Amino acid sequence: MKNKIQTLCGAVFVAASLLLSDSSVSCRAEGQMEFINIQGVTVEDPFWSPKFNLWRQTTANDILDKFEGKHLSEGNHNTFNNFDLIAQGQKGKGGHFGAPWFDGLVYETIRGIADYLAQYPDPVLETRTDAIIERIAAAQGADPNGYLNTYTDLNESNHRWGENGGFLRWQHDVYNAGALVEAGVHYYQATGKTALLTVATRLANYMCELMGPAPRKNIVPSHSGPEEALIKLYLLYRNQPQLKKQIPLPINEKAYWELVIFWLENRGHHCGFPIWEEWDQGKSEKWIRDNTYADPKFGNHSRPSWGDYAQDRIPLLEQQTIEGHAVRATLLATGLTTAALENNSPEYIQTTKRLWGNMVGKRMFITGGVGAIHHDEKFGPDYFLPSDAYLETCAAIGAAFFSQRMAELTAEGQYMDEVERVLYNSLLTAVSLSGTNYTYQNPLNSENHNRWEWHGCPCCPPMFLKITSALPGWIYSIHERNIWINLFISSRTTLDLPDKNKVALQMQTTYPWDGNIQLELNPEKKSRFCLRIRIPGWARGIENPDGLYISDLTDPITLKINDKPVKYQVEQGYALIERHWDKGDTVTLELPMQPRLIKAHPEVENLRGQAALASGPVIYCFESIDNPKLSELKLSSENNRQLLSQPNLLGGINVIRCQTPIPATAIPYYSISNRSKNNKHKVWLPLTD
Ligand SMILES: [Zn+2]
Repeated sequence: MKNKIQTLCGAVFVAASLLLSDSSVSCRAEGQMEFINIQGVTVEDPFWSPKFNLWRQTTANDILDKFEGKHLSEGNHNTFNNFDLIAQGQKGKGGHFGAPWFDGLVYETIRGIADYLAQYPDPVLETRTDAIIERIAAAQGADPNGYLNTYTDLNESNHRWGENGGFLRWQHDVYNAGALVEAGVHYYQATGKTALLTVATRLANYMCELMGPAPRKNIVPSHSGPEEALIKLYLLYRNQPQLKKQIPLPINEKAYWELVIFWLENRGHHCGFPIWEEWDQGKSEKWIRDNTYADPKFGNHSRPSWGDYAQDRIPLLEQQTIEGHAVRATLLATGLTTAALENNSPEYIQTTKRLWGNMVGKRMFITGGVGAIHHDEKFGPDYFLPSDAYLETCAAIGAAFFSQRMAELTAEGQYMDEVERVLYNSLLTAVSLSGTNYTYQNPLNSENHNRWEWHGCPCCPPMFLKITSALPGWIYSIHERNIWINLFISSRTTLDLPDKNKVALQMQTTYPWDGNIQLELNPEKKSRFCLRIRIPGWARGIENPDGLYISDLTDPITLKINDKPVKYQVEQGYALIERHWDKGDTVTLELPMQPRLIKAHPEVENLRGQAALASGPVIYCFESIDNPKLSELKLSSENNRQLLSQPNLLGGINVIRCQTPIPATAIPYYSISNRSKNNKHKVWLPLTD
């Protein structure tokens, strides 16, 4: 991986005699960093561990139960029956349950479960998942080509991949296939079982035969996600060639990579119609279903445009701003970034940075939410950040996946800052304290907010499982002689340095309720390497890299090595410590958790004269159950703000008490709507000065 930004971590420390300032040695970080396999990290954290246990035991099974329709007393609401109908040869006979993308949601759930199984063996959950995989494999077995999309085959069987009068944007064939591929890869990595991977490989092979430059068909995913998935499949077989012997299929992994490149670079290359921005939905769909794009005047390799909604109006590498359906947009950007990690294309890298910069600097909400506009669930224009905006859970999660890949590509802390913003705000908001109720929309201020037991479009719970199960793998990363601490979660890992030295790391913290983070390092032998600890932007007065949010925090950060305070330099968002590390060395970081007042950039018209509160990475919210006079509350920069621990409230939280001017209590935004129904809440309050 060449062609990366070069950084030097030598010569940055000047204090404490134990620090070296020799820049001639070792710690060059070439931009990229590698995250640790989730199996390699053990989380033992007072904040996260109880949640992981709840989500893998209760939430994962709750999602499967609800896909089975167990929460309903009448009727057939069993999503898995769709697979059985196909296996029974019912193709073309109708009877599909749910939306066309339910196959994909089932696969996403399996991917999330797989990552949990990789960390927490659970024979009961694994057996339950294996039984679902059997039904999926039986469905695929009914088709000679290995095609598998239950909605299309049951209800529109002549319209595979949206052809012959089909409508891919509705059918989600390629999206579903991508989710299957990702599930197959993750389930193999977690369990060593190849049944789902075989199904996934067969469908991927079929797509590679069918789609691509002429004479293959011009088909791109109208909902992104498959791009990253097929790169994972490519890397799996490339890195483990012996695995191919276990799969009873021909495997040319390069074909998966080539298909991804076709999908990425062929966006914006279409016949120019329908004109989604001018035509209504009905006219556009009819134009496609009438096969009008097959007219020879459009050439022999033509397809419809999926519009800005699906990031398809213009070529991806020419897109200047992040547009359209926010889940699609963030997953496409994630796929592009994953491809850039592999091919190092400067054009790809520039595009990822441009799209990320626009998203985070101009269009991201203070909780990490994105997708301001309800219609089309899409990004709004720059600085359009209304406090009652839509903000689908999946979109924030997509943004976090994008940011995590950007961190991997660049080794810059600002990207992990935005992952953290989503984790402590949007992600945790997505599920109730019980682990069985969810959110879809996440407005920052609301007159009537409730969680739901299940949803007609239950896309958010599977995305929630996917990200929560992946996140232990993002705590640490490594590249050559550099070790990064990205997230503050009590955990243990052992990392391999290039000189065969192993370094055991242990982190202890009660973050986000306290800013004290302690690390203990135990290298097998005394060794010189570079430790890079993320110093969050919010702690340094950089609430947002582009000034979209501004805080009044002025309190200091302290860093100690073996209990002695040291001066340090922050490079690319990480404090650098390069020295000879010995067994039992400790690093203590103290971040300022005092409640801070946040305002938005003056260009954000919707938030002028308003402010919000935060402590550490957590954004706070005033809920009517604590604040009956919610409409009278006002913030001031002079407010006396107190952070108080409430171990028995909402699973254990810190609250902020302040005079607004009447006494008021704010709770973490993520914990809203857990105590009673139909509450009002406000993140943003009027500011009196
Ligand atoms: Zn969703």
